[in-house]
Amino acid sequence: MTISERLTEPALFKTGAYIGGKWTSGDKSFPVYNPANRQTLADVTDVGAEGAKTAIAAASEGLKRWKKTSPFERCRVLLKWYDLIQRYSDDLGTLITAEMGKPLREAKGEVAYGAAFIEWSAQEAARVHGETLPVAAPGARGWTLRQPVGVVSCITPWNFPAAMITRKAAPALAAGCSIVIKPAPETPLTALALAELADRAGFPAGVFNVICGDAQDLGPVMTGSPEVRMIGFTGSTEVGKLLMRQAADGIKRVSLELGGNAPFIVMDDADLDAAAAGVAQAKFRSGGQTCVSPNRIIVQEGVADAFVGRLQAKIASVKAGDGFDSASDIGPLIHDEAVDRVDALVKSAVAGGAKVLTGGQPLADELGGSFYAPTLLDGGSFDLEIARSEIFGPVASVYRASDETQIVQLANDTPYGLAAYLYTRDIGRVHRMTEELDYGMIGVNAPMVGSASTPFGGVKESGIGREGGKWGVEEFTELKYVLLAGVNG
Ligand code: NAP
Repeated sequence: MTISERLTEPALFKTGAYIGGKWTSGDKSFPVYNPANRQTLADVTDVGAEGAKTAIAAASEGLKRWKKTSPFERCRVLLKWYDLIQRYSDDLGTLITAEMGKPLREAKGEVAYGAAFIEWSAQEAARVHGETLPVAAPGARGWTLRQPVGVVSCITPWNFPAAMITRKAAPALAAGCSIVIKPAPETPLTALALAELADRAGFPAGVFNVICGDAQDLGPVMTGSPEVRMIGFTGSTEVGKLLMRQAADGIKRVSLELGGNAPFIVMDDADLDAAAAGVAQAKFRSGGQTCVSPNRIIVQEGVADAFVGRLQAKIASVKAGDGFDSASDIGPLIHDEAVDRVDALVKSAVAGGAKVLTGGQPLADELGGSFYAPTLLDGGSFDLEIARSEIFGPVASVYRASDETQIVQLANDTPYGLAAYLYTRDIGRVHRMTEELDYGMIGVNAPMVGSASTPFGGVKESGIGREGGKWGVEEFTELKYVLLAGVNG
């Protein structure tokens, strides 16, 4: 069955570019694959540098109108987009599973999670406001305005093909900005379907644009064009640094959601069953390909054997397979290079002294796609490469440490600072450790931290800025101050 045959609304299957309220296609294209079976799903238009310029010009035009619409009107259009996404959630889930690989029920969960940011941001549109300020001069009045930043370039990764777009697009549009989105080349089909639904929702021409193509051509235009005032990026720290350097030339605002190296800490007073279930849930979501995935599971020595036994039992039952098969708990990795990278990390960990308790090998030959076995490693050293870099695969790696002070020191010993997890029943530890851990988000006895109403983002090399809640919308506004002299003078 082809991908468009799987959709209830085949018109959501788009392969062109959405610029200035119109669908266009070009001579140059690139293939999109299903990582579960390596079959080609589509050939998508590569707009090249010229297409990126056209999209930014369209966004500049769109901005003129959109920034002047009332927040209530922006709210209405956003809620229409939200409703359409809910209506076609099965189709969007199908596209995500086809091009990214995650199980269909998880893909639909991503659609719901991503849509929640649209609903929240829509309602927040009317709450963007300035303040009246006290000023020293007699009779003078001062006030602030919150205005849209302007045209925003949104560059997104493949691991959440829908949610990484809505987490930027919704608050930017609510604030009155226009956007040009460049999705990852692995997962453009979901982005283009979201554009089709945005078109039906009624965003004015040029407000919402999606372009695909080679980042080497599109990137410099998206960061360098003077009309672009902000770059909203989710992806690797390496590319984030590059984009920040490019943005520096035009002193452009950046919002960067980058990589992580999350510690998952299990203290000796923790509920070990809940902690093992928490690791399994957080680790295997998206096949371990998330920025908040537990990367170092740090367990206090006294409970380490008991905890590892429980975790091993959980991981033994995790089944890898095609995301369209309801029996699959995890899908494939994004491509074969990702499988090779994860396998190399596991091999070097084993060479460095870690023991493989479950899995530990690619499943590409058995399953016919880019699969890696759900894996548990025990006893690694914190100096191993697998402890220092993002695993981005279904490999849980357990480390042992002695006390609270050492655990906090080890957890913070990384340039990253996105998410951390702490399992303990001691309220004193909760306060001490959450204050000491250098992370933007901490889940205490909770394996999932993100939601539409809360701030998502990292410290250190994990990024700048927050997505979600009132903070997410505020990122896309500029604060302007006005002083009116001597009203009574
Ligand atoms: P990536 O390689 O950094 O790519 C992300 C996006 O940036 C893609 O669209 C990519 O397009 C584009 N890109 C790459 N080089 C560029 C350039 N020079 N100019 C403009 N755009 C460029 O990351 P990924 O492999 O897709 O995603 C995985 C990473 O994302 C992980 O590090 C993960 O932790 C991070 N992530 C962070 C969060 C968060 O909220 N903090 C959420 C999800 C993922 P091309 O592929 O065409 O180069």
